[in-house]
Amino acid sequence: MSIPVPGVCESRRMTSSAGKTFTRRSAASKPPAAVARSLVHAAPKPYWLDQPDAPEPLPALAGQITTDLAVVGGGFTGLWTALLARERDPSSDVILLEAKTVGWAASGRNGGFCSASLTHGIANGLERFPAEMPVLEKLGEQNLREIGETVAKHGIDCDFQHTGELNVATAPWQLDGTAEQVAVARQLGHDVEILDAAEIQAQLGSPRLVGGLKYTTGNALVDPGRLAWGLRQACLDAGVRIYESTPVTSITPASASCASKGLTLTTPYGSVRAGRVVLGTGVFGRSLLRRIGAYVIPVWDYVLMTEPLSGAQLAALGWHGPRGASDMSNQFHYFRMTRDNRMLWGGYDAVYYNGGRASEEYAQSPATFGKLATHFFEMFPQLEGVSFTHSWGGVIDTCSRFCAFFGTAHGGQLAYAAGYTGLGVGATRFGAQVLLDLVQKNRDTERSRLSLVRSKPLPFPPEPLRSGVVQLTRSSIARADANEGRRDAWLRLLDRVGLGFDS
Ligand SMILES: Cc1cc2nc3c(=O)[nH]c(=O)nc-3n(C[C@H](O)[C@H](O)[C@H](O)COP(=O)(O)OP(=O)(O)OC[C@H]3O[C@@H](n4cnc5c(N)ncnc54)[C@H](O)[C@@H]3O)c2cc1C
Repeated sequence: MSIPVPGVCESRRMTSSAGKTFTRRSAASKPPAAVARSLVHAAPKPYWLDQPDAPEPLPALAGQITTDLAVVGGGFTGLWTALLARERDPSSDVILLEAKTVGWAASGRNGGFCSASLTHGIANGLERFPAEMPVLEKLGEQNLREIGETVAKHGIDCDFQHTGELNVATAPWQLDGTAEQVAVARQLGHDVEILDAAEIQAQLGSPRLVGGLKYTTGNALVDPGRLAWGLRQACLDAGVRIYESTPVTSITPASASCASKGLTLTTPYGSVRAGRVVLGTGVFGRSLLRRIGAYVIPVWDYVLMTEPLSGAQLAALGWHGPRGASDMSNQFHYFRMTRDNRMLWGGYDAVYYNGGRASEEYAQSPATFGKLATHFFEMFPQLEGVSFTHSWGGVIDTCSRFCAFFGTAHGGQLAYAAGYTGLGVGATRFGAQVLLDLVQKNRDTERSRLSLVRSKPLPFPPEPLRSGVVQLTRSSIARADANEGRRDAWLRLLDRVGLGFDS
């Protein structure tokens, strides 16, 4: 997850010479023994998916079938697309093909911050789509509201709550420019206030906090695993045929003589002839459509979950405001409470493995978990002795403009979306609407006219240059945090050309 609500993004562009920096232990140092003990029993899997009532896997596709619309990918993008397709046209036949199980990837591993923002925060949106921001914000708020309505309509028990969010500063430089941010956010309809050190500590008990912003709009919290499972059930109830353990290995024109006669999707034990195809495959889509690989890179983000906090620990934590927060440094942490009083703590490291490696072996990173746990106890020393029960990582489909892009292929018979860059829990539903607009004969709507929809991010350079650029950018970002937010020449150059790196 990254920059979860409007406001945090702004801090990325700020420079300051004021104040002192919140110093951290060196990134390379080994965690102290107490920190190591807090991690040693953590199960190496996503907490959200490690539930006794996880749904039974659905059978894989065997044989040949035909359909009006084939959706590839059982994350939020694919699930919303399939459900909304049936809602738009109950007479159309819709299938969903998932390589593993629904929600196993980013959709079941995230922080559960469900933001209204479609642009990865206000500042990013204003920089890239200034004229469209009022309409993008309106559509984002509507999207968030409709997610809540769908959850209620289908009785999805995923703890969806409109919570707003805290953005907390751990060093004074992080607060530079907040008055301007707040003014802009209010103009766009947000309810936000600036809190000083005493006020922020009355919301959340950490001696590290020097101030912050409190949003009561623009963000909900959700249990993402249960949202994915609930959408899966809603799809099944709506008549969508879902095949799990069914990776699509190729997509080709169904007819050699007429390219507009549908597409054939090949799977290990079957095939699908589809009138239309939607790819909701995140960063993995690059194996089905090469052009996607120019725009997205897999960036690993890591998360810890604590055991349930006791009554005494909760009292010591003193979390009275919105129960989701992130800090305002460039390399930031996000954290939130769960229904059963655990704290999720993630972020900070955003790791690109050279060459763009995305296989599951990277989902565990003891070095990053040690760093995260160290930071956790620095932020909340009163929680000393708390253990982590789960540790996991997930791949974020990062693009250079930090928000989703869209496109079509095979003469408009296939549409794809990717690049949500750590803020897709809410935006994927908007993305699904766009995909249906695009694939259903390029329907002309308010959405499909947006330059957010019609334009693409700058592509990343090819490897091995890509790895060099990304690693240089990561170290510059870390240096900016250690240097009171001052961006070096490299980051300023990237800012100028509109090429960014984020999780
Ligand atoms: C650790 C972490 C924390 C995050 N925190 C937040 C947060 O708090 N808030 C937020 O808004 N966003 C967050 N995000 C981002 C968010 O989770 C994603 O933007 C969102 O889930 C993307 O959904 P998706 O459906 O596009 O992709 P995915 O969830 O990645 O789903 C893609 C699916 O496609 C399937 N697939 C791929 N290729 C094929 C194929 N060939 N055949 C069949 N199936 C295929 C995959 O198996 C997978 O299930 C976070 C992400 C991570 C990793």
